[in-house]
Amino acid sequence: MDFELSEQQAAFRDLMRDFARKSIRPVAREWELAGRYPEGIVEEMKAMGLFGMLVPEEYGGIAIDAVSYSVVFEEISKAWMGVAGILGSHSLATLMLAKFGTPEQRTRWLPDLATGKRRSGIALTEPQAGSDLQGIATVARREGDCYVVNGSKTWITNARHADPLPVLVKTDPEAQPRHRGITMLMIEQGTPGFTVGKDLDKLGYKGPESSEVFLSDCRVPVENVLGGESTSPGGRWAWRRPASTARLLMRASATRSAGP
Ligand SMILES: Cc1cc2nc3c(=O)[nH]c(=O)nc-3n(C[C@H](O)[C@H](O)[C@H](O)COP(=O)(O)OP(=O)(O)OC[C@H]3O[C@@H](n4cnc5c(N)ncnc54)[C@H](O)[C@@H]3O)c2cc1C
Repeated sequence: MDFELSEQQAAFRDLMRDFARKSIRPVAREWELAGRYPEGIVEEMKAMGLFGMLVPEEYGGIAIDAVSYSVVFEEISKAWMGVAGILGSHSLATLMLAKFGTPEQRTRWLPDLATGKRRSGIALTEPQAGSDLQGIATVARREGDCYVVNGSKTWITNARHADPLPVLVKTDPEAQPRHRGITMLMIEQGTPGFTVGKDLDKLGYKGPESSEVFLSDCRVPVENVLGGESTSPGGRWAWRRPASTARLLMRASATRSAGP
């Protein structure tokens, strides 16, 4: 097996390395300690097309391969892992939309997510459910052409900037096995009943906020279901599929932020 980067991947790595060296490394320590959100760096990442890494070209993305995707997280995390966090869950949300979104959802959200005009994250974890997501307690009950959502999420990175935010909910709390009744809903900022609570204190990985999210009688249109309700095969995979990509980016970020 050939583990060398291709010529194109090596050129891309050099570009990322240069960007991290010039734009991130000089401010990383100070801004990390201050917990400052790196607006200027975000603008540069927009111009480089990095918010569209996993968005198909037809929607304005750059659709890079898995190795190049890892290279982005390696090079940025070597300078400051917090900046990688801004791209991480955003890119997972775009991956879910590209793979499982309806044509209407893709057209509505992907072009702006690809440029970074809109950004995203992913809201799975709850105070009582992290590793074992079958235990989530956020419930979405169907009422006519809406779901009425009640519950809370925690540790949601990019929550203040995410619009739309994919939120994992139980549409059938009684379903057995428990993973069956789970569905992903795309919730837009400004939807009544959707609020971002406090930003949680962190020892590191500062820069992007990781926040509480509250849902109180939040009415979400049925057309915002991503990948179908989880009784269908598509619905189940809409939230499980990005997990392998998440592992890839977390490995690349963690390894490089820890060493040279
Ligand atoms: C900085 C930060 C950012 C985050 N950003 C997001 C985000 O954007 N979106 C989001 O949804 N979540 C986010 N999270 C939450 C994160 O996904 C959870 O912390 C994670 O899933 C673990 O859940 P938990 O903290 O409840 O720990 P637990 O699930 O309670 O696990 C605690 C420990 O027990 C171990 N453990 C759990 N189950 C088992 C088992 N069956 N067998 C053996 N060991 C086990 C775990 O490995 C861990 O070491 C973030 C967390 C942090 C700290």
